[in-house]
Amino acid sequence: MMQDSKTLDHQVVIVGGGTAGITVAASLLKRQPGLDVAIVDPADRHFYQPAFTLVGGGTYDLARTHKSMRDVLPKGASWIQAAVESFDPDNNALRLQDERLVRYASLVVAPGIKLDWGRVEGLAEALGKNGVCSNYSPDTVNYTWECLKQFQGGNAIFTQPPPPLKCAGAPQKIAYLAADHLHRKGLGGSSTLKFYSGGGALFSVPAFVPPLERVARRHGVAVILSHDLVAVDGERRVATFATTGADGETRHVEQPYDLLHVTPHQCAPDVVRNSPLADAAGWVEVDKATTQHVRYPNVFSLGDASSLPTSKTAAAVRKQAPVTVKNLLAWLAGQTLTARYDGYTSCPLVTAYGKVMIAEFIYDGVVTPTLPLDPFKESRFYWVVKKHLLPPFYWNRMLKGKETDIAHKPLKRVS
Ligand code: FAD
Repeated sequence: MMQDSKTLDHQVVIVGGGTAGITVAASLLKRQPGLDVAIVDPADRHFYQPAFTLVGGGTYDLARTHKSMRDVLPKGASWIQAAVESFDPDNNALRLQDERLVRYASLVVAPGIKLDWGRVEGLAEALGKNGVCSNYSPDTVNYTWECLKQFQGGNAIFTQPPPPLKCAGAPQKIAYLAADHLHRKGLGGSSTLKFYSGGGALFSVPAFVPPLERVARRHGVAVILSHDLVAVDGERRVATFATTGADGETRHVEQPYDLLHVTPHQCAPDVVRNSPLADAAGWVEVDKATTQHVRYPNVFSLGDASSLPTSKTAAAVRKQAPVTVKNLLAWLAGQTLTARYDGYTSCPLVTAYGKVMIAEFIYDGVVTPTLPLDPFKESRFYWVVKKHLLPPFYWNRMLKGKETDIAHKPLKRVS
């Protein structure tokens, strides 16, 4: 197509070269080699974020969680290394921060979720020193392990914001690894571990709550719900939580800490929220079965930035991507959209070193295991899957557009 340096034209434009963007690009080009696909992303590195939990627990090397963007871009895709500034779907175009215009026939929006570190007063200043750490960023995840190694007993505090958040199991996984680590070091008796959640339940799918409560009890991790982190005083080493009582009054609770692992508040990216693509909550408003935008039929979205009402994980993206790709190609060919996403997502809940319970479910919290194993039992096998099998599966199959559709089935009996 004709282009000047200020205007770029591509048949399919994908915003975000993360898990969703690269998976969709690879799958599109595998199904239709020669398709004109461009990926817009300013980042020069691509991260496998699911391994951050293991990095923070000192059992995985951060260097193995990332590759250069150039290495993961599928052959045949163009890379526009810039950030999107605004969307103009009425004119099938978007504006880049460097002011170039990009026009498309079809658009896939996948810029992920925004980590809102600024929502908690004092957090940005406190993070990365004096025992304040987080697995949620590659810049701070190694410090989690530093903190755990240096901890000599005292208060270890773990926080989870109210939804939305990506991998809703990750905030508690690090609490269990920490408990296991401290027990092995002989510091269990001199440590108090508390998990504060801004949400009202330990996990979004009720069937997994009792087994997770048992895990927390076994580790001696006290679970405190409906307490939202609002401030961190790094100098005094005090975290402040807001909680609303039955009387509707909001109280503030101060909690001294020696180690504070923070999961930041999260929300839709501003570039989506401030665009005509957004729903009331700021996500790209798509049909929950087809992943097609409800107002702009040539726009699709998946992954963390989409409105798909399921848990935001890479595992969900694995099942969303083939649906998006088939429907997008059908739309380009003027055919009916027939592919359907059932809400599948999965969260490998690391419950100790060497143990994982895998939560797999679809829309409405229906538990749907892939393998004929008890989904509520911790297992060594799933630890091997999490640590050793999923990373190469991600790099060598998922990001290469090699789709592996292993069927998941609704569980008949909930124990
Ligand atoms: P991302 O992979 O985050 O990619 C978004 C991309 O968009 C980035 O490359 C970014 O640079 C780009 N971008 C952002 N803004 C713009 C812009 N304006 N213009 C252009 N590009 C832009 N998932 C699991 O399945 N299992 C797990 O065990 C698991 N554990 C996790 C543990 C942690 C600590 C974390 C942080 C995440 C975990 N996840 C897990 C979640 C998983 O990593 C995400 O759900 C997944 O990466 C979402 O993919 P995405 O493509 O939507 O977003």
